[in-house]
Amino acid sequence: MNSTTGRLTVIATPIGNLDDLSPRARAELLAADRILCEDTRRTGRLMAHIGVKKPLLSLHEHNERRRVDQVLEALLAGEHLALVSDAGTPLLSDPGFLVVRAASTAGLPITTVPGPSAALAALVVSGLPPLPYTFVGFPPAKPGKRRRFFERYREFDHTLILFESPHRIVRSLRDAHEVLGDRRIAVARELTKLHEETLRGRISDVVDLLAAKERVKGELVVVVGSAEVGDLEPRNPRSDSDG
Ligand code: SAM
Repeated sequence: MNSTTGRLTVIATPIGNLDDLSPRARAELLAADRILCEDTRRTGRLMAHIGVKKPLLSLHEHNERRRVDQVLEALLAGEHLALVSDAGTPLLSDPGFLVVRAASTAGLPITTVPGPSAALAALVVSGLPPLPYTFVGFPPAKPGKRRRFFERYREFDHTLILFESPHRIVRSLRDAHEVLGDRRIAVARELTKLHEETLRGRISDVVDLLAAKERVKGELVVVVGSAEVGDLEPRNPRSDSDG
């Protein structure tokens, strides 16, 4: 590697509250030559908010494979590239892995500015055992595949963390109930935002709470306790917003 070799910095950005962008994240965005981002408009708004103007290069699930060579070339030419996603930590159900793997295989320097992660934020407010945990991203959208997906984790003695969309959450939790049993769960909604709330209880209790709503809105993370997590607390479904 020569002295002009660049650097790739993986930077976490807020999952809702813009004040969660760290001073070091801002400094690294300011120091970068270019920023690889999922949605240039969205990152453009973040950059405008912090008063930093930089060339943005899109990197999303449809072009990441094609971008790899271009990114490697830029790094070898000495560029400092920052990698961000629309929200939270890149690579975690977000683009970036192919680029990081390529840079790592090429022996190029990779650094990070850690920060917000919806998965970990939900885990730490869930009230469920934090270790060991397994983060599984989004379950498949189709019911058959989704049930097989949950079956893979039935014997796991881990807390599971998953992402789910608001319009699938009730069906997905019903499948989880059928496959995993009536486990303890927490559903964290709109973390760090104005309408943040966490619903905790058995799957059946939380499904009842969600199904009673006209429409579930916002972004959601589901944390599922292992079969071993029994009655650590009294059996009362609770929401933080109950007051
Ligand atoms: N890479 C991101 C991270 O580290 O948090 C997550 C990106 S993933 C494409 C987006 C999903 O993360 C959403 O559908 C939702 O499940 C979860 N999520 C993101 N922000 C959230 C928030 N503020 N509250 C709850 N869940 C959130």
